Amino acid sequence: MDSNADHYTPYKETRISNRFIKHADLLEILPSLTNNPIFTTEVAGYSFEGRSLNLIKAGTGETRVFIWSQMHGDEATATMAICDLINFLAASSEGESSGKYILENCTLFILPMVSPDGAEVFNRRNAQGIDINRDFHRQQTPEGRVLRRLRDEIKPHFGFNMHDQSTMWSTGNTGKPATISLLAPAYDAALSVNAVRERAMQVISIINTELQRHIPGFVARFDDEYEPRAFGDNFQAAGTSTILIEAGGFKDDPEKQFIRQLTYTALLTALKSIASKSYANVSLANYFDIPENDKRHYHLVLRNCKVSTPVATYKVDIGLVADEKLNPDHRSVTYTYLIEDVGDLTGYHGYEEIEASNYNLILTRPLIVGEGADFILQDQLSTVLCVENGRITNKNL
Ligand SMILES: [Zn+2]
Repeated sequence: MDSNADHYTPYKETRISNRFIKHADLLEILPSLTNNPIFTTEVAGYSFEGRSLNLIKAGTGETRVFIWSQMHGDEATATMAICDLINFLAASSEGESSGKYILENCTLFILPMVSPDGAEVFNRRNAQGIDINRDFHRQQTPEGRVLRRLRDEIKPHFGFNMHDQSTMWSTGNTGKPATISLLAPAYDAALSVNAVRERAMQVISIINTELQRHIPGFVARFDDEYEPRAFGDNFQAAGTSTILIEAGGFKDDPEKQFIRQLTYTALLTALKSIASKSYANVSLANYFDIPENDKRHYHLVLRNCKVSTPVATYKVDIGLVADEKLNPDHRSVTYTYLIEDVGDLTGYHGYEEIEASNYNLILTRPLIVGEGADFILQDQLSTVLCVENGRITNKNL
């Protein structure tokens, strides 16, 4: 295989370009996306509000792989990556050899946008207000029932549970954000490792090795905790080697289009490895060497600010988080900068950092954690940064 060939650009689904994709958008592109004899599609069920859940099947191989995305409605990165992957697989009928190899050795079952009602309003929860990923046992959500039934019917050897995580996660204490986090979810509270979970860990090692070529140091291991209500944990217990992929943050990628490409790369790398069974030779040490997720990132950090009040003058670092609020168009967000922490933020990092020791900080409102930022940062002559009610209104850096 030619490792230098561009395995992404020709396949990128250009009709999708941001995280606010809706069910109608998906339905509009799905017929042409899957208009190829290698695919069959079927409606696997309906959401609480009656939107269809669409299962796409491809391949004839003996290893069954189930990929589902966006069971949390505001986590769309993998849905975009899946559309790119479908384009890649379609090219196998025109001779794309690695796609052909995957489809000869695997049968793929792909369920994009498990929560179309959540996607409609860019909300983690479904229309009942329920987190679908805590509904494995109670089965009160139609979306959760579809997901569980499909696993029971398909009996996949491998499962890919595709999510987005907070952009505040870091890769351990390395100072880098966790752009992609990976986990082989536990199937019991003791976090035991059996052959099923071991295979998931081995595939993750392969994914990590590939991602390190693109984003060295930006891959983390997701929090390893048993969640008995979640699907990944229960699928692992049921015998499907389940891999959690969480799309996090990367500087200057708010719409996660670079992270979408990384997610695509992760999936494609995993599928190639599953098709060839190359994962079987990988040591588990590779998995445990991936640094764990640690919440050490802010969106903006001001270092060494000099605060002058009538009572005292003192030095603080300020960590700010850009809180997203969905706009009425449901297709964009407005950012409000909230104060997340104040004081010595050594060991914490910002996607953007400002060394403020040579500036004066004028507080329009006191620094209150959890509230919107309100301050002016000035040098002798002019305003360097002005934040009003959490909105950056002036920035000259
Ligand atoms: Zn999620």
